[in-house]
Amino acid sequence: MKRILVTGGAGFVGSHLCERLLNEGNEVICMDNYFTGRKSKIAHLMDNPYFEIIRHDVTMPYFIEVDEIYNLACPASPVHYQHNPIKTIKTSVLGAINMLGLAKRVGAKILQASTSEVYGDPEIHPQPEHYWGHVNPIGLRSCYDEGKRCAESLFVNYHESNGVKVKIIRIFNTYGPKMEPDDGRVVSNFIMQALQGKDITIFGDGMQTRSFQYVSDLVEGMIKMMSTENDFIGPINIGNPVEFTMLELAENIIDLTGSNSKIIHMPLPADDPTQRQPDISLAIEKLNGWTPKIALREGLVNTISYFDSMIRDKSIHDM
Ligand code: NAD
Ligand code: UDP
Repeated sequence: MKRILVTGGAGFVGSHLCERLLNEGNEVICMDNYFTGRKSKIAHLMDNPYFEIIRHDVTMPYFIEVDEIYNLACPASPVHYQHNPIKTIKTSVLGAINMLGLAKRVGAKILQASTSEVYGDPEIHPQPEHYWGHVNPIGLRSCYDEGKRCAESLFVNYHESNGVKVKIIRIFNTYGPKMEPDDGRVVSNFIMQALQGKDITIFGDGMQTRSFQYVSDLVEGMIKMMSTENDFIGPINIGNPVEFTMLELAENIIDLTGSNSKIIHMPLPADDPTQRQPDISLAIEKLNGWTPKIALREGLVNTISYFDSMIRDKSIHDM
């Protein structure tokens, strides 16, 4: 049995990861400050004697004996990470320093949840890991993008200077049940709008693209990356390469929900990347049979059903 620390474990991805690691027979410690996470996402795990939750901010040092660390603590939605940009940078940078220091002290392996945002508004398409990116260092997204880029540098340097066993994954847009309904990301926004018969808010002309990965494919990739040989540190892209425009996403969601919602256009936020698609050849080569398995419409059906039950539960409680 391994003892595993998951920072940001009460968040969208972290809660799925904690559940999967527990199901595989590990002892899991979930650390979170509940900025964008919620206890309700992990409450069903609390009866398991091998699960612990700790309220702690990753920007402060933390000491524990563990075999592995998954470092996910960081708000991921643009609305949330732009809410307090300085705190976002501290979470990425001080959080990485604290967790790398812990990994060094106890000899743990540590995986960093980096992001496709390190490529910024990419000029190379699809994006391979050797592409250095096109990031505005002082723009609205820079607190997140540069924080994550600095964290990658810290991970590589702790590995090279101190021999820490590190793994870096670059996650592309991921969606699924347990996203927050109001966290501002496109999939949750469009589904909630469609289910409630509200206008679907496309930012800009809707021709910008993203490649959407279902959360179980990401969790599988994370666990497989953690178990690669120690000399393979990444970075490695983990995403689903099938690319959609935001207009196509909206049309799919309207179709699957049978909604009467209308599409409206709103101003495009600054520095919004125009295209994004992962080159996943390295992941396919290195991650022992990993490949994304869930197509967009299949994943959307599950996610729509999750938000639909949430809306129904709320309306029952509100009665
Ligand atoms: P999320 O916002 O749902 O989860 C982040 C979690 O980190 C939350 O539980 C939050 O409370 C916690 N947190 C934030 N700041 C903290 C701090 N200072 N100390 C302790 N906990 C803190 O986001 P998510 O989608 O689950 O993303 C998880 C990780 O994956 C993040 O690091 C994110 O950057 C990365 N990522 C996600 C995506 C995606 O599409 N979901 C894409 C790229 C990268
Ligand atoms: N977007 C949109 N309407 C929304 C929310 C987002 O058109 O209500 C667009 C956004 O401008 C971006 C894309 O959807 O082009 C993905 O946005 P998200 O915030 O989910 O992720 P990111 O931009 O970080 O990839």
